[in-house]
Amino acid sequence: MSARLPPSRRVVVIGGGIAGLACAWYASQDGHRVALVDRGAPDGDRCSLGNAGMIVPSHLVPLASPGSVRLGLLSLANPTSPLRLAPRLDPQYLRWCWQFLCAARSSRVALAAPALRDLALLGRRGYEALALLWPQGVPLAERGMLILCRGAHALREEQEGAKLAQRLGVPAEVLDPDAAAALEPDIDMAIAGAVRYPLDAQTVPQRVVATLIAGLAESGVELHWRTEVTALRRAGSRVAAAVTAAGEIGGDEFVIAGGMWSSELARTIDLPLPLMAGKGYSFTLDQPRVRPHAGAILNEARIAVTPMGSGLRFAGTMELCGLDRSIDPRRIAAMIESIPRYYPQFGPADFAGITPWAGLRPCPPDGMPYIGRTRRADNVLLATGHSMMGVSLAPATGRVVTDLIAGREPTVPIGLFAPDRYG
Ligand SMILES: Cc1cc2nc3c(=O)[nH]c(=O)nc-3n(C[C@H](O)[C@H](O)[C@H](O)COP(=O)(O)OP(=O)(O)OC[C@H]3O[C@@H](n4cnc5c(N)ncnc54)[C@H](O)[C@@H]3O)c2cc1C
Repeated sequence: MSARLPPSRRVVVIGGGIAGLACAWYASQDGHRVALVDRGAPDGDRCSLGNAGMIVPSHLVPLASPGSVRLGLLSLANPTSPLRLAPRLDPQYLRWCWQFLCAARSSRVALAAPALRDLALLGRRGYEALALLWPQGVPLAERGMLILCRGAHALREEQEGAKLAQRLGVPAEVLDPDAAAALEPDIDMAIAGAVRYPLDAQTVPQRVVATLIAGLAESGVELHWRTEVTALRRAGSRVAAAVTAAGEIGGDEFVIAGGMWSSELARTIDLPLPLMAGKGYSFTLDQPRVRPHAGAILNEARIAVTPMGSGLRFAGTMELCGLDRSIDPRRIAAMIESIPRYYPQFGPADFAGITPWAGLRPCPPDGMPYIGRTRRADNVLLATGHSMMGVSLAPATGRVVTDLIAGREPTVPIGLFAPDRYG
């Protein structure tokens, strides 16, 4: 007897960032008729382009953690702190901060870590498959990642992180400066030690986005660019259509993957979806004088360093703010000042003439993404809120959403990602 295929549905995915593209890709590969809608152009800027491209099974601790609260409070007195709360008297902002404080407990982190591990490992396997399919379009540097610590205190904290990873079956090794130098012979490092996560990998996000868009077009997915969805139109307990200025786009299933703007769409079906923009910056040196072999995180400075082709991208800072992509030169200057403290061969002159980029990470208060169905409408799924891990988790998100559309049990537990948890 042949296996029964799930019935083909018309799936409308709203949002052409990495999360929406992954959902559209897996749904189309599952035999559905897919339409992807984005208010921007195919090459329009979005958070999924200028990020650090890290695929991080090592990231087991969500943004909402006791350590982030400490850093956030310290940032009130320091506008260039890598994690910064930009306080304002806005009820939504204050509610998010309260929900963040409630979630940032060690007991919750202990629950979150295994769920994030499973999702990240599924994402990692997704990238392996995509890289096999498109070796040029989805480059996958499987060289691990080093967390570089300048101070003994930071190294001790990272050692705790390594122990947590090991307890959860994610390989991690603590390195002294000589062992770290042996892995990175082409660049000097001024560090007290490092933690290496061999399963971590890096990709080139802007290339992955372009490749997925081309793959969707080839697979016959309907692509609606420059088309803003202003609301979801209900028909009873279901949504019948996505409303746009160019008319309605009907479907059987609707996936909200609008990044930082997802809350606005969710509101049209009465789903409260708290999100705060976590603004981050990056800049890329096309021809750096020296380059590490693998990706790295400059721990105390919270800067990710990713070799991309012949270039080197530096990405970092998390400013919890509104929908504001303006660039604060003080924060860029603080990033540039920190880099030579870890890589002494770099100096300010290396960064003259860089073009900084800013992106808004969609951050839920508890640091866990929103993935799955909502009780607010029978045929709406959420695929957003990935904070600083959207690239890493996108293939897993696409798989989970596609499983749910087909009525299959997802291969990873998704209870903690429930979109209704603030409802
Ligand atoms: C500096 C920085 C470094 C980062 N580094 C990493 C990293 O190394 N690894 C990692 O995993 N993650 C990283 N991230 C996080 C990652 O970039 C994000 O989590 C991810 O890009 C979010 O993707 P998205 O698809 O949800 O959102 P977006 O990329 O913002 O896409 C959302 C899309 O939805 C569209 N849209 C929204 N509303 C509507 C509407 N109503 N109608 C039509 N279209 C709509 C928008 O036009 C947009 O194209 C980093 C982020 C930053 C800022």
